[in-house]
Amino acid sequence: MDHFEIEKKFGANNYKPLDVVLNRGEGIWVWDIDGKRYMDCLSAYSAVNQGHCHPEIVKALTEQAGKLSLTSRAFRNDQLSQFYTELCDLTNSHKVLPMNSGAEAVETAIKTVRKWGYTTKGIAEDKAEIIVCDNNFHGRTITIISFSSDPTAKKGFGPFTPGFKSIPFGNADALKNAITKNTIAFMVEPIQGEAGVIIPPKGYLKEVRQICSENNVVLILDEIQTGLGRTGKLLAEEHEGIESDMTLIGKALAGGLYPVSAVLSNTEIMDVLNPGEHGSTFGGNPLACAVARAALKVLVKEKMIENSAAMGDYFLEGLKTLKNPMIKDVRGRGLMLGLEFVPEKINARAYCESLKENGLLCKETHDNIIRFAPPLVVTKKDIDYALEKIHKVIG
Ligand SMILES: *Cc1c(COP(=O)(O)O)cnc(C)c1O
Repeated sequence: MDHFEIEKKFGANNYKPLDVVLNRGEGIWVWDIDGKRYMDCLSAYSAVNQGHCHPEIVKALTEQAGKLSLTSRAFRNDQLSQFYTELCDLTNSHKVLPMNSGAEAVETAIKTVRKWGYTTKGIAEDKAEIIVCDNNFHGRTITIISFSSDPTAKKGFGPFTPGFKSIPFGNADALKNAITKNTIAFMVEPIQGEAGVIIPPKGYLKEVRQICSENNVVLILDEIQTGLGRTGKLLAEEHEGIESDMTLIGKALAGGLYPVSAVLSNTEIMDVLNPGEHGSTFGGNPLACAVARAALKVLVKEKMIENSAAMGDYFLEGLKTLKNPMIKDVRGRGLMLGLEFVPEKINARAYCESLKENGLLCKETHDNIIRFAPPLVVTKKDIDYALEKIHKVIG
């Protein structure tokens, strides 16, 4: 079967994948239809932190699928309360609102915090403002792209949703200056993933936390990519010892076996929602809850978060020995690593294609940055394998 031609003929053209057709995965490895093995250094944009087809998560999925998959929230199911308890215990949260995709979690947070702004902070109706950061990535809905600064994500899709203001990332003074009496929230990624693994200056989140508290502005951390062990901590906020008011998680929440996202919140904000004001047919379904419970369990039990920190350091040290003079910067936290080339001169895509030929799958972000983000179950030996290929291809 000619997958490329068929996809081109029948599929929307909204992705530009590497030309590799996969049909099997296990841990950090995936295989193509010819049986060739590759190390996965993307982890489905950090959705398979626990590794492909983790046996305990697969078991939870298959067992629950044969028992009860969907009730809708019109009725209760026996998995939801256990999911709530375990997730709140783990993340030190008070309340959870379960959704499916990351974009839905972002939309949910925006709705909730707007209502909090009107009912609790006393903002005049329809005046609520949310501050976000330039080069953010929070998803693909109309409202979310309304505050994107990426022309490709945005152009041709208007009219856009008002109520957002964008400031430079990593600049706490910019936040201070942007807050007005109508500001209800500041939403930010602790490390900007899609922008190219952009790590803010040390102390940024701490300052941001303080500014938000002083101004009664809700701090929303989008940890859909940075969360659940990716950066070497359960949540990236821990690197600066802060706690958000709302945290968004998704991607690895169900280990890549099912789409599950959630808004974690303190009680005051989440309690503004009443029956009928928000929901999702699939949000909080028993299959999603059972899979997410297993995914969280193995993340902790198998010490994947600690492994992410240790292996991330090791990987970063290895990347720092690259000699290619076109490399501008190598950076990372935990297993979220970025290799940036001098812009305009280097086509990162060509390197990704060549790495693929050599048995390593990763993806460029922008034209000049490669992100390395293997599943958190990676070992030193695996990283040596990756580094050998990277040295061979990049130099
Ligand atoms: C992937 C991502 C999203 C969107 O998640 P989807 O499941 O693709 O809708 C939102 N925010 C961040 C930081 C992400 O990395």
